[in-house]
Amino acid sequence: MRLLFLLLAFPFIAVGQNHQQFQFDGPAILIHGGAGGIERKYYTDEQIAAYDSSLRVVLQSGYALLDEGANGMDVVVHCLTLLENDPHFNAGKGAVFNDQGEVELDASVMNGATKMAGAVAGLKHIKNPAKLARAVMEETSHVMLIGEGAEDFAKSRSHEFVENNYFLTPKRESQYQRWKEMKKNGTVGVVLKDAHGDLYAGTSTGGMMGKKYGRVGDVPIIGAGTYADNKGAAVSCTGHGEYFIRENVAFQINARMQYEGLTLEESASRIIFGILNSEAGNGGLIAIDAQGNATMTFNSKGMFRGAMGKRKNSQKVMLHTDIFGDPTWPENCGF
Ligand code: ASP
Repeated sequence: MRLLFLLLAFPFIAVGQNHQQFQFDGPAILIHGGAGGIERKYYTDEQIAAYDSSLRVVLQSGYALLDEGANGMDVVVHCLTLLENDPHFNAGKGAVFNDQGEVELDASVMNGATKMAGAVAGLKHIKNPAKLARAVMEETSHVMLIGEGAEDFAKSRSHEFVENNYFLTPKRESQYQRWKEMKKNGTVGVVLKDAHGDLYAGTSTGGMMGKKYGRVGDVPIIGAGTYADNKGAAVSCTGHGEYFIRENVAFQINARMQYEGLTLEESASRIIFGILNSEAGNGGLIAIDAQGNATMTFNSKGMFRGAMGKRKNSQKVMLHTDIFGDPTWPENCGF
């Protein structure tokens, strides 16, 4: 019955396999390293191995903390920091440039048990924006701080400052020269269920290559790129942010689950394959609900992604990483 419903409602699902589902028992973590025109032909074996190893290191380190009973927000920020410090991804070091050749960083985090959230946007000198997003949540009465105000706040909290050119990598410099053709993404995100059963989400990014100076994407907007609610799901998105803002994707996943009674998988599929595809909005998301249902769903060519946790009805901990989508996926669904 459910399959029939999905096939009627989302004909794309029958063709593409760009959604992977898991059911976990106990703590579990999912991460992404961005979605976009990520195709096998653009990568050497060595590059694929390097991305894969980056994803595995983060998953293993995050899961080990969860397994010891760590607080979910500590693990979200720990994993986002590892990903921000890894030059492979478009967050922190390795972030893309804006149209002025500078890096401007956005990040957000959310606690699904308390609905507390923190976000930062337009940072130019903060090494780890995810840490600052958490500080905004925990140490101010606000949800979001931007630009100079956010950086001034960071000064009083001993966050690590770096010159803007710390974030630059040779790869991003050559991409910048070609940014008009590239339109490449690579945001990072983490969603998890901790050992206490609470859900958390966080996302961090340099935004989109060649974005207009001052542009803010979906990542720091609570409800667009990031959302967590124990009654629905923890969601972290990646893709063409303007579409994710207009559709309030991360919150809409939650709303459809809570008010329409859809499962997490149905809700994610409806938005990514139905609504965003119909608007040419490319990207994807990772999400987990309180019952341990998890999904990695995307309509782009690929999405750096991975999951780790104990599968339901199994004593074994599973570690899964992946990069590319279904090669038969229709051409017009990628960048
Ligand atoms: N969603 C991000 C933004 O629009 C980009 C990405 O996910 O790659 O800023």
